[in-house]
Amino acid sequence: MKTLRLILGDQLNHKHSWYHNDDKDTLYFIAEMRQETDYVKHHIQKIVAFFEAMEAFADWLRARGKQVVYYRLDDKQNTQKLGTNIAALIKKYGIEKFEYQLPDEYRLDQQLQQLADDLSIDSEAFDSEHFLTTRNELAEFFKDKNTLLMESFYRHMRRKHDVLMEGEKPSGGKWNFDESNRKKWKGQPVIPHEKGFRKDVRETLARIEQGGVKTFGNIDPQQFNWPTTREDSLKVLRYFCEHLLVHFGDYQDAMDPQQAYLFHSRLSFAMNSKLLHPMEVIQAVIAHWQANRSSISINEVEGFVRQILGWREYMRGVYWREMPGYARCNRLQNRNDLPDFYWTADTRMNCLHHAIRNSLEHAYAHHIQRLMITGNFALLTQVHPDQVDAWYLGIYIDAIEWVEITNTRGMSQFADGGLVATKPYISSGSYIQKMSNYCADCHYKVKEKTGDEACPFNSLYWHFLAEKRAHFDGNPRMAMMLSLLDKMDGDELEALSARARQIIRNPDAF
Ligand SMILES: Cc1cc2nc3c(=O)[nH]c(=O)nc-3n(C[C@H](O)[C@H](O)[C@H](O)COP(=O)(O)OP(=O)(O)OC[C@H]3O[C@@H](n4cnc5c(N)ncnc54)[C@H](O)[C@@H]3O)c2cc1C
Ligand code: SF4
Repeated sequence: MKTLRLILGDQLNHKHSWYHNDDKDTLYFIAEMRQETDYVKHHIQKIVAFFEAMEAFADWLRARGKQVVYYRLDDKQNTQKLGTNIAALIKKYGIEKFEYQLPDEYRLDQQLQQLADDLSIDSEAFDSEHFLTTRNELAEFFKDKNTLLMESFYRHMRRKHDVLMEGEKPSGGKWNFDESNRKKWKGQPVIPHEKGFRKDVRETLARIEQGGVKTFGNIDPQQFNWPTTREDSLKVLRYFCEHLLVHFGDYQDAMDPQQAYLFHSRLSFAMNSKLLHPMEVIQAVIAHWQANRSSISINEVEGFVRQILGWREYMRGVYWREMPGYARCNRLQNRNDLPDFYWTADTRMNCLHHAIRNSLEHAYAHHIQRLMITGNFALLTQVHPDQVDAWYLGIYIDAIEWVEITNTRGMSQFADGGLVATKPYISSGSYIQKMSNYCADCHYKVKEKTGDEACPFNSLYWHFLAEKRAHFDGNPRMAMMLSLLDKMDGDELEALSARARQIIRNPDAF
């Protein structure tokens, strides 16, 4: 063997040019490693999904006649660390050149650069051929600007990739149909039950458990339903187009205690592991819409395209522009601990109970649950962003730092001081009531602000504004809320703050 090529667990791109060129002297290396299972405590389904996907990818390569070394977690030769595993393989096979794809995480990027520098043989880094932008494209785009407005980046991406465009104009006459995407789901329309696959992952699970990897969350190992092959990922995409797209935009922000997924696609793991390319997802959705224009309206399609062509690429660009400092930012100087109930769902606040229970059950919550329930509460109770980050990075099936940290620290916790979000995503109970079906069955009363039965979000909201107002002075998007705060009667504000302080002191009692 002359060349050793490393494939990381989130680089399962079947269409990469590596596999279409002559590589008969090439050894591919994929490894389950403790360095990856242990850098944060992960949900069990997340580790199972990655290991299943990595093994399936190795099988796919072998079926194409490639030479593959796959290390399982319990293989004797596996040193559990990238550097020592690679050094040993180079020695064993007399490798002359080391090649890798540019990782998406800063941590691994640093590690691989260092590794390549330390090797006595040549090495070369390749693009992962997955994203629609380069690492630095967003930084270039906003070079002379003070803010990083997602909407202008998104329009640039629409034009650049000629997506939902009619000549120079956006399809449907508008760039963004977000204001049409705010319906509450009231049991109708019926969400077509997913018929998807049910996989047996007992062997992979046993390996992880026997290895003593510390995980959390639940799993049904005979009914595992995350797509871990390209074939299954395409099935989920097809299912989304045929059954869910029709209402995706309308109910994008809706929440319901019994519906973990509503009309969301569940494609984030398939994309983040690179089993699916973002452009193939976008094109499949647009093709389906074009064939069904009489029944699917543009707001459903535009809302979906914006998440992938806009937000996803935008977050990646922000990540590479801002790391490594981003992982330390805490502009609001929040210092409190994450409540214990984030790990158990054991709280009387019905919205938090269901959003967290879903997350523990499925390693999934949809965007508005992440942003306006768990993220909202963590921000209002002023939890340290390091702890918020560790939770989000561990719990979700799709959590990889480049997209997790930008969403968590930036969009959700305002820890970057407003680089990603133009205002903090906080709300009192009334927003949650408007968008969800949680409040009717809650121990707390959403309309009450103080008193033992008052919805905790209400007092926390005003207390947060009062405590952090200096950070928001001069922010036009906060002007209305701050002026309401200023007009509030002093006694009323003090009563709200007293209750908020009680909640912050011991959130687990609520
Ligand atoms: C606090 C917080 C943490 C988050 N952490 C992650 C994370 O670790 N990994 C992750 O992939 N997404 C993250 N998101 C974004 C979003 O919540 C998930 O992408 C989405 O819920 C995945 O479910 P889905 O595939 O059903 O998405 P859908 O609602 O069906 O959306 C389709 C696709 O759009 C993309 N997308 C949607 N919103 C975003 C966004 N804000 N940023 C980037 N891509 C987006 C995803 O690839 C998603 O699969 C986070 C959001 C918040 C508020
Ligand atoms: S009343 Fe408050 S705590 Fe209860 S579900 Fe509604 S928003 Fe959540």
